[in-house]
Formats: sequence, C-alpha cells, structure tokens
Amino acid sequence: MRVGRRVAGMGSSATATVLFRGYARSRVASTVTYIEEGAFRAIVDPGMVPAPRSILEPLARLRVRPDQVTDVILSHHHPDHTLNVALFPRAQVHDFWATYRADHWEAVPAEGRSLSPSVMLLETPGHTPQDITTLAGTSEGVVALTHLWWNARGPTPDPLAVDERQLVRQRKRVLEVAQRVIPGHGAPFRVPRRSLTG
Ligand SMILES: [Zn+2]
Ligand SMILES: [Zn+2]
Repeated sequence: MRVGRRVAGMGSSATATVLFRGYARSRVASTVTYIEEGAFRAIVDPGMVPAPRSILEPLARLRVRPDQVTDVILSHHHPDHTLNVALFPRAQVHDFWATYRADHWEAVPAEGRSLSPSVMLLETPGHTPQDITTLAGTSEGVVALTHLWWNARGPTPDPLAVDERQLVRQRKRVLEVAQRVIPGHGAPFRVPRRSLTG
C-alpha cells in the first residue's frame, strides 16, 4: 500500500523530542529521540553516546524513568544505534521483522506496523536491507525518524549504503508524507523537497 494512504489514517497527537543529537566524525553518536503519545513512551535508537546519562538525563527532565519506557525502536542493526538498548528493562523492542520482550520473539513485519494511534513503522531499506523508519504524527506535521539521512546534508551518496538506488527510492517515499526528518546522526531538519532526494 502506498504510504500516503496509511499516513492519512494516522493521528497527530504524538510528540517527538530529541534527547541527544548525534554526530559521525572521529567519534560517533546516534541521534536518540523520545516519542510519547498517552501511555505509549518510546525511545528511538538508544545507540552510542558519550555515556548512558546522555540519554537518561534529558529523559529525566521530561519526568520519565527508564522503567516507564514502553517501547524501543531500532532503525537498523548497526551498533551505533543499538548499544544502549538494555537501559529500558520493561520496553518491548521493535525492528524490521519482529518485536522482542524478555524471552518472547514475535515475528511481524515492520511495514505499516502501528505502535500507537499516531506512530507507525515503515520498511525503508538502502543503508542496510533491514532499515526501518518511524513516522510520528505530531501537531506540527509528520516527523520521520530515519537513517535514510545521517544529517541534513544527506550524505548523497551514503558511503555505507548497501543499495544506494534503493535508498534514494525510500527517501522519496518518506518525503511524500513527512514534513520533518530526525536523521541518524544530526539535528532535525525541515524537508526541502528537491535537494535531498537525488
Ligand atoms: Zn548504520
Ligand atoms: Zn549510523
């Protein structure tokens, strides 16, 4: 199904707050984001950061304890985006083909997986074959949390992409529905439609 029709059915009452702004230079850190909608409290990409407190302190400022986090979403299986997944002991974890909680492994494809009324996953391969994008409907439009971009400049081409053509196709698919992007290793940016897809 086209993304647009799925997104049309999504709510707009989630909030997405960047807890840590990532980078990829001589040191590497993931952009880590908190999404909330009612009782749904999710962390996206609890990966490499200078220390666990880089994630937990901004979360505490939002008055959220680690054991209150209900869900963790992994954009893909590179350690820079997964290293701190165990900080959230009660969360169920989502990736491209399953959800995991304690010793339960439930196989379920990510494409179209609804996690709350305003939060949905898409399969967006390219950087790796197992990449997913989280779409969050907010009062300011749809936010895409994704490693299709490292930061606002792309890069294009992605030097680590296993399939650049697929990546470009998936960027276009996401840009059809998202007004803002929270990328894998940078600050959020608004979508300038032309420059980022080529
Ligand atoms: Zn990666
Ligand atoms: Zn990365």
